[in-house]
Order: sequence, then structure tokens, then C-alpha cells
Amino acid sequence: MELNQFTANWHYPTAIRAGIGRIEDLPAACQELGMTSPLLITDPGLADLPMVQTALINCQKAGLKCGIFSQIKGNPTGDNISDGVRAFKGGEHDGVIAFGGGSALDAGKAVALMVGQDRPIWDFDDVGDNWLKVNAAGMVPVVAVPTTSGTGSEVGRASVITDSNNHIKRIIFHPNMLPAIVILDPQLSVGLPAKLTAATGLDALSHALEAYCANGYHPMAEGIALEGIRLIKEYLPRAVEDGCDLEARAQMMTASTMGSTAFQRGLGGMHALAHPIGALYDSHHGLLNAILMPYVLKANRSAIEAKLTRLSRYLALEDADFDGFLEWILTLRKQLDIPHSLGEIGIDADRVVEIGAMAEQDPSAGGNPIMLNAQQYADIFLSAVHGDL
Ligand SMILES: [Zn+2]
Repeated sequence: MELNQFTANWHYPTAIRAGIGRIEDLPAACQELGMTSPLLITDPGLADLPMVQTALINCQKAGLKCGIFSQIKGNPTGDNISDGVRAFKGGEHDGVIAFGGGSALDAGKAVALMVGQDRPIWDFDDVGDNWLKVNAAGMVPVVAVPTTSGTGSEVGRASVITDSNNHIKRIIFHPNMLPAIVILDPQLSVGLPAKLTAATGLDALSHALEAYCANGYHPMAEGIALEGIRLIKEYLPRAVEDGCDLEARAQMMTASTMGSTAFQRGLGGMHALAHPIGALYDSHHGLLNAILMPYVLKANRSAIEAKLTRLSRYLALEDADFDGFLEWILTLRKQLDIPHSLGEIGIDADRVVEIGAMAEQDPSAGGNPIMLNAQQYADIFLSAVHGDL
């Protein structure tokens, strides 16, 4: 296998430098965007690792005055963003390197937005045309460097930030939040443990799958979703089995970017439920989607049967129909050691009414192929708690 076959420069949906070792391009990417003093925003768990330290040293060698900020939670909060803005201003930075998993990428993008605003962050909650209130001229450029393959936030135009006072995840959106340059270096994901590889990889699958099933006419997004799902089918088990399989890591990183590119079309019930559950229980977003996936598919069955048959044929599944597809998802989850129920990760039915209501209100609910009400979401949640498919 020629590993440099994964090296490419893409300009869709933004400037993407893909390939093993491409992290070397980071200083040049910052300079291309006019940065002289970037703030690198990352997860606390990554801050001291060699990959972040090396990136910092390389930026300094190239003459950049680089700072680091890593005080963010697994589900980043509004306070984390305010702290990041303070660090940015205190260090007189002029750009952001968002480096890490979904939390770091979302936090980095949100800080780059908020450094130029006078209003509080929740004014930009993705409802109606709130994004028009953003002072776009105040935003600073972002280079995004994902280290996991799942969130796809590197090509997203929004950040999911937890409003801790109201225990709700809010989507902060502005079209210019799309990072100006993305570096996809699969080498950076090699150290990711199998469990996280599985959970984040299934998050990528949920993005592509929900985008593929979502309402509305968007064949471009559908095409990207289809191929993204095929890559995940082929390479996620390999990446979980052997974290050092660079071909699998490279294909998964691209598939994750594709999932997020596709979901500009919309998401659906998996995310509508995963957002409130994540906000209330602080559980891992990808793991929640992975558990919820079959329950939501079943609830949507009447609307997606024909589409899933077409998808199953593309995936060359033995039984190319809805049941065959569901069976594949269940087998894949088992193979990747994903629990079958929310109960197994400590989530009980105590807050079912609240979760049903929050799911109905979640922005992702708009993309679900069937308009589900709060009661229907509550029922899906209950089935998932008890593992009752
Ligand atoms: Zn997701």
C-alpha cells in the first residue's frame, strides 16, 4: 500500500490539506491566513502530548508567537468560551488553531467568533436569523486540526456549546465559522483508544446516515453521505481493531469530514435526542448516537424504507433492505463493543418527559424524515434506556 496515495489538497467545502504527516503544513497555513500570533485551543488531555508540543515548537520556529489554551470541558460550556476569549485578548492573538476532538474544534471556532462580539454568546443561538447579529468583521481566522474521526466539526459552520445555567446544548452558527484551512493528518488519530475510535466513528456514521435520510431535495449531500457510509463500513472496524492501521485511519478521517459536509442538509432524531441527553448527563456524544441509532431508524422506518434499500445495495449488504440494514448496524455495534442500551451507561428513565420535550425542540429534529412529537421522542428514549428494540 502506498501511504502517500492519501495525500491531496482539496478546496471543497474549504481548503483541506489531507495526508500523513501534513501537520508539518501548520505554520505555513497560519501564515497564509495572516496570523503572526495564533492561540492554539485544545483539549486538556492533549495539551501536554508530543503532538501538540511539536506543533507549538514548529510554529515558534517559523516565527509565530504561539499561545495555548486548554481549559475546556468534554462538552464545552459558555464559560469555557469566555475564558478562551480572555486568553486570546490577554495574549494579543490574531487567529486560532483549533486542535483536537470535537470539543476543541467547537471551542476554538466559538472563541474565534466571540473575540469580535459585544453581545453574549447565546444571542447567536441558531434560531431564525440570529446569525445576522454577528459582527463578522470581528471574527478571526481558524486553522482546524482534528485528532479524532467523528465530529467533522473542522468543516462545520457551527459549534455546539453547553448553556450550563439552562442545561441545554445550543448551536452557535455563522457561515464564516467554517475554518479557512483544515489539516487532515491521520497520524494524529493513531493514539486514539479503541473505545473512542469506535464511538467517534459511529458519530461520523450517524452524521452521514441522518443526512442521507433527512428531508428535502439535496442530491449533492446525499452522494457525499453514501460514499462516507461505505468508507465507514469498510474502515471503522479496521481502525478499531488496529489503531496503527494508517490506511484505515486516513479513510476514517476523510469519512468523518464527509459526514459533516453532508449534514449541511440536516440531521435528525439521533442528534435531537443525543443533544439533550448529553447536556443532562454529560455523556459522550458519539456513544449516545451509536446507542440511539437502531431505535431511531426503527421509528423512522415508514419514511426511509426505500432509501435504506438503495443504501444497502450500494453497501453490498447480503440482505439489501431495511431489515438487512438494521441487522448490519446491530452487528457493527456489537463488533465495536458498543452497549445496546442507554441503561448500560447509567442513564435511567427519570427525566423522560423533559428529554422528550427537549428533543422535539432541538434544531436537529427539523431534519428527521418524520416530524416526531415530544411523546414519540420520549418513547424512543425509553426503548433505548431499556434496550427494547
Ligand atoms: Zn454528532
